[in-house]
Amino acid sequence: MVYVLAASRVNEKELRDFLTDEGFENWDTAAVEDGEKIVEVAGRVCYLSFAGGRSHDQYIEHLKESRHGSVLEHATITFIITGISRACTHEFVRHRAGWSYSQLSQRFVDEGHAQMVRPRLFDKISRIDDRERLHRLWEDFVKGSVEVYNRFVTEFEWLFNPPHAAGKIDLGLKKAIKGAARSVLPNATETKLVATCNARALRHFLEMRAGSAADSEIRAVAIKLYQAALQYWPDILGDYQVIRTPDGEEYLTTHYEKV
Ligand SMILES: Cc1cc2nc3c(=O)[nH]c(=O)nc-3n(C[C@H](O)[C@H](O)[C@H](O)COP(=O)(O)OP(=O)(O)OC[C@H]3O[C@@H](n4cnc5c(N)ncnc54)[C@H](O)[C@@H]3O)c2cc1C
Repeated sequence: MVYVLAASRVNEKELRDFLTDEGFENWDTAAVEDGEKIVEVAGRVCYLSFAGGRSHDQYIEHLKESRHGSVLEHATITFIITGISRACTHEFVRHRAGWSYSQLSQRFVDEGHAQMVRPRLFDKISRIDDRERLHRLWEDFVKGSVEVYNRFVTEFEWLFNPPHAAGKIDLGLKKAIKGAARSVLPNATETKLVATCNARALRHFLEMRAGSAADSEIRAVAIKLYQAALQYWPDILGDYQVIRTPDGEEYLTTHYEKV
């Protein structure tokens, strides 16, 4: 699941004060979404171009066309992403510029009932008996890994804090135990990620991760982020096209790469 926790908001009073102070009180924009209004204002401050000219959508289009991407960095969005595998978040967090992350801690949170994210390739196995056979193999393995995880937690607790020892197990030891036990959990382990980015960074991410060369899971996540963010940034992201292949895969293309 993808939830949009927050997106940039304009302080209308301060914007009006600025425009009045600078003699542009007649300026207005057709921007409906705050993030896009912020981007337009930031761009117009560069040339003090608050008197007529391009419409809002033309203005955003021109920013992309002229590769003035730094202006897009003023619009930000925060996503909460659940149901994503650790394999996928490992790829995700390689995106550094313009991104901030918070992720579920496997040292703090007990993974004794961890959910697993099955790779989408299983859904493409056409013969039902092959699909079920391979699914069972996968499921036995991932369930087994959680059982081994639980066994390590129990045994470590017993070894390092036996029942006859006085006092409760301290937080440092708990974290050390979970930190060691998690080593047997697979890449498929479900996790939760909070990710904040600016619009330029999201565009780069979409081009890398919603492209046809990207892994299926991160591509699906990227398409969801695109669909969620499109509601906030219809012009900034309006140049992307979703391509659907005959086998049900989706990817994004644009004629404005790496703005
Ligand atoms: C299909 C695919 C296959 C991949 N395979 C592998 C693989 O086999 N092994 C592997 O390790 N990784 C792999 N990656 C990850 C890839 O190498 C990048 O680490 C990842 O996509 C992050 O992109 P980015 O480097 O553009 O970083 P971002 O943080 O998204 O940066 C955005 C842009 O900012 C600039 N930038 C960011 N940081 C710096 C910096 N330190 N110095 C200079 N400029 C900077 C660059 O222009 C960069 O493109 C793969 C990615 C894809 C999409």
